[in-house]
Formats: sequence, C-alpha cells, structure tokens
Amino acid sequence: MKNLLVFFLLLFFCCITGCNKDPIKVLIVTGQNNHQWQVSSAILQNCLNESGLFVADIAVSPAKGEDMSTFRPDFSEYKTVVLDYTDFDGDAWPNATNAAFLDYVEKGGGVVVYHAAASAFPKWKAYNEIIGLGAWGDRDEKDGPYVYFKDDEEVRDYTPGQAGSHGSQHEFTVTVRNKKHPITKGLPASWMQAKDELYDRMRGPATNMTVLATAFSDKSTGGSGRHEPVLMALHWGKGRIFHTTLGHVWPGDTEYPALKCIGFKVTFLRGTEWTATGKVTQKVPANFQKIN
Ligand code: ZN
Repeated sequence: MKNLLVFFLLLFFCCITGCNKDPIKVLIVTGQNNHQWQVSSAILQNCLNESGLFVADIAVSPAKGEDMSTFRPDFSEYKTVVLDYTDFDGDAWPNATNAAFLDYVEKGGGVVVYHAAASAFPKWKAYNEIIGLGAWGDRDEKDGPYVYFKDDEEVRDYTPGQAGSHGSQHEFTVTVRNKKHPITKGLPASWMQAKDELYDRMRGPATNMTVLATAFSDKSTGGSGRHEPVLMALHWGKGRIFHTTLGHVWPGDTEYPALKCIGFKVTFLRGTEWTATGKVTQKVPANFQKIN
C-alpha cells in the first residue's frame, strides 16, 4: 500500500514537472575544427543535458590526418545532429558517412549548424543546401547569393565575390526578423549577444531558408556594413535545420562569453528542439535580456 502511494506521488510529480517525457536524443559531431571544439562541444552538451529536454552524446572523429574510414556515427539513432565540425583545416568525412548523413536528413532527421560548421565541406553540394549559407573554402558567386537585410528587407545579392569574413570580436545586438517562427516566437525583439565573432558576407543556395535574426556588422569593427543573418531555419528533404553563426571559441581562450550568453543558449535550445520535433515547448526565461 505504501509502495502504491509512493508510485502515485511520483506519477503526480512527474506530470507537473514534465519529466515523464522521454528526453530528445541529440548527437554532437565534432573532432576536427579550427576552433576549440573540445570546449565548445562539452559546453553544448551540458547546455542540452541541463535543460532536461535533451540527452546529448558526442561523436569524436579521428584526429586530422588519421584514418577517417572508421568514422561512422549512427545518425539514425538520434532526432537531431549538432554539427561542431569543419574540414576547414582538417579532413572530410568518408563517402559512406556523407551518404548516411544525407539519408538521415532526407528522412526527417534534424540538424543544428553551429558556428564554424558553416565553413565545412565547400564542394559538397547537398551540404551547402542543408546549411543554406556558407563561408570560406572556395565559396563565391558560383555557390549562391550573399544574403543580408537592408531597410528591413531581405536582399539576395548576386555580386561576384568571396564568401565569409568577420571583423574583430565584440558585443552586438541581435534583431529578430521573423517573430512568427516557433524558434523566435515570444523572444524579445532584440537582445545583446556577449562578445562574439560576427560572420559576414556569407553566401550559398539559401533555398527553403528563413532568416530568423540578423546582427549589424559595423564597418568600424571591420565588418561588412550590412545586417547579417545570424539565426536561420531551413528545410531539406523531410529534415529541419537550425543554423546559428554564433558561439565562437578559439584555441587558447579561457573564457567563453559567446557560449555562456543567455541569448546564445536560449536560441540554441529552442532551435534544437524545433529541428527535432517541429515545435518549441520552452518558455522564454525571465532573465533573457541579461548577459551572463
Ligand atoms: Zn569563430
């Protein structure tokens, strides 16, 4: 009888806290990156797990120059894959892994494109479609237009030129451009991102892509003078993709303001949930406007 009482009390507690829901399985893919992936992947994993909504594993590739043929993450085990990987200064994935990744997205698997993943795999056509906008490599006008905002309107600019650059790191204002999307619905109209690297002049196919938020890349800090996309939502096959250009962590950094910023965390968690389920159930924290 006493056991039954405990059971019902636990059941009641779980109902009011929502802990009866199975957490969403997320795989963070990393192991090669010109950034400090050991730190960023651990912070992203903690952020996901601490939310209670997700349980995140990390797949670490072989190191640069080692045999990549064994790198075969089982994407199909997960609802969403977070990409903290770039071959910018490293190795491409094996063909079988590329094929498995596309099959996973085609069938509805979620993808979160995080910061330097926008520089990965410049010659992989489907990857460029999935990320929407890319940077560096040999990306230029052959890969698609520059996309930015001018006078509150989205511009697709086919002017020839290289893709990807950034000015010096600084705090900047993030402005929501789509208030109806589940990821941004209910967020403040704008907020301050802690000191971070603001990617500019990105270009790519940008098909099935909604720009959710931009930030002004000021020429005084070495930027483009444009309102650059920083948060994007995309569809590819049956898969949903959230692309955040935020969250720079460089080798040797000992503080990680860009990743600790509540604006980064909130949008990362909301974007991850949307890629997994098509919905966002998270409430906007009361302290959202503060930087911590
Ligand atoms: Zn960076």
